[in-house]
Amino acid sequence: MATKLLLTFAICRLLVTVGLTLDPTELLLLGVDGQISVDPTDVETASLDFGLLTRPAPPLAVLHPASAQDIAQLVKAAYGSNFGFTVSARGHGHSINGQAQTANGVVVQMSGSKRGGGLQASGRKPPEPRVWPGERYVDVWGGELWIDVLRSTLEYGLAPKSWTDYLYLSVGGTLSNAGISGQAFNHGPQISNVHELDVVTGKGDLLTCSEEQNSELFHAVLGGLGQFGIITRARISLEPAPQRVRWIRVLYSNFSAFSRDQEYLISLHAQPSSQKFDYVEGFVIVDEGLINNWRSSFFSPRNPVKISSLDPNGGVLYCLEITKNYQESTASTIDKEVELLLKKLNFIPATVFTTDLLYVDFLDRVHKAELKLRSKGLWEVPHPWLNLFVPKSKIADFDKGVFKGILGNKTSGPILIYPMNKNKWDHRSSAVTPDEDVFYLVALLRSALDNGEETHSLEYLSNQNRRILRFCNDAGINVKQYLPHYTTHEEWMDHFGNKWDWFYQMKMELDPRHILASGQQIFTPSF
Ligand code: FAD
Repeated sequence: MATKLLLTFAICRLLVTVGLTLDPTELLLLGVDGQISVDPTDVETASLDFGLLTRPAPPLAVLHPASAQDIAQLVKAAYGSNFGFTVSARGHGHSINGQAQTANGVVVQMSGSKRGGGLQASGRKPPEPRVWPGERYVDVWGGELWIDVLRSTLEYGLAPKSWTDYLYLSVGGTLSNAGISGQAFNHGPQISNVHELDVVTGKGDLLTCSEEQNSELFHAVLGGLGQFGIITRARISLEPAPQRVRWIRVLYSNFSAFSRDQEYLISLHAQPSSQKFDYVEGFVIVDEGLINNWRSSFFSPRNPVKISSLDPNGGVLYCLEITKNYQESTASTIDKEVELLLKKLNFIPATVFTTDLLYVDFLDRVHKAELKLRSKGLWEVPHPWLNLFVPKSKIADFDKGVFKGILGNKTSGPILIYPMNKNKWDHRSSAVTPDEDVFYLVALLRSALDNGEETHSLEYLSNQNRRILRFCNDAGINVKQYLPHYTTHEEWMDHFGNKWDWFYQMKMELDPRHILASGQQIFTPSF
């Protein structure tokens, strides 16, 4: 009760401050209970993201919520005040273009609150994951990191079905986009694997939604770029967790053989699990630097095949990356199953790289690369990433124009490419994909170092991204940006296409003052 009063007091003070003076020193008084903080470290953290590309004016304050009610109170206050202020949920801040930031408003720090000093001292913290083994789902706080979701469900021998490549992302953050990885061809993106959500809307109402209850809100929030509400709880579908993974990479010098095989493998989605891979991804190799290979740790120096000896066509090689999950009790059949599947593929003979590891180690693979890059000072650098969904019918044009053309021979980071089946995406969600049954993710995950020998400069890479988008436009390749970044109304309307009218209408209903997630730059706050 005391905490509630303090939070209310803090919000009232915030309103006065925002409306009358905008004086940050006033805000110091708001941190009294440790929930609303104007601590410079908190404010600094909330004004940065993984991209390190934008640095807008910092937020006025940061809320470390312990419950959905804390968030509802804050948003209600923002919505009901004469002056108004923006509120942006921030998960792990792994956006590229300031999507989780808000100038002159309050950032709700969803992830990491369990470690927050004030909250810990007061004994209040967001709820822990709750696994329902019989029903095969888990209820998690919106700020929970996927690595922690995994750890909790593994205690019951269960795991979510659909992943991102990297697990230090928040549930609310990835569900606001889609959440994709090599399992998406089979299980759909993470947003296709959610049973129910609790959401605080832009009016401060805390609502439960699912297919059956408040279904329009449910679909709008999934892939909704944070525009309609703050996800405080997600109920995520689980499956029995595999124990081990056979992880295989094979190389191609011919793009059409590569893409044909990728498309063949994802066409097997309806087959019994013994007759398909569990994960299908791939990447493009145009150079061999450390940055490029931060995901490629198992091409060991002892490999019998030297990449340069493969005489890649047009200077480019393609690596298909596939996995097969298994239980130790069925280990005897795994070799045979893999062999049968590989037999159908047309990779360069003698380029099969195989490793075998625990399921959790496979899922958490990028974190190992992160630690390596951190130790070399190569992680906290600008990341001008560009993620595109490319329709299958145009992927060969994209290869010719971008991989073999615009990129040159120094990519400055990994370039992923893998196809997905559109029928695994719910067309009622806010997520936007190309209008074809199969489309590819092409992820240009580049790092820009000031004096990098292995990377280009930020300016060079930003210009190159613009060139790629211009090329697609000129060549009639109707790409959709994943994790989209636009700054004009027209661009957003174009991005959403025939979903725009509905998206706009839902915004007017659920966040009429445009308080939420203003860092996406889709709507301008109306106060
Ligand atoms: P933030 O950056 O904190 O927030 C992103 C957006 O979501 C913001 O608009 C924010 O306001 C909103 N938001 C955050 N929390 C909530 C909430 N609880 N309710 C409502 N809105 C909310 N993506 C993939 O799909 N697949 C990958 O394999 C993948 N790998 C990645 C690897 C790395 C190293 C990085 C940096 C990113 C990767 N991403 C991947 C992208 C990632 O999914 C998105 O950037 C995602 O938004 C990051 O989650 P976050 O918790 O850091 O979100």
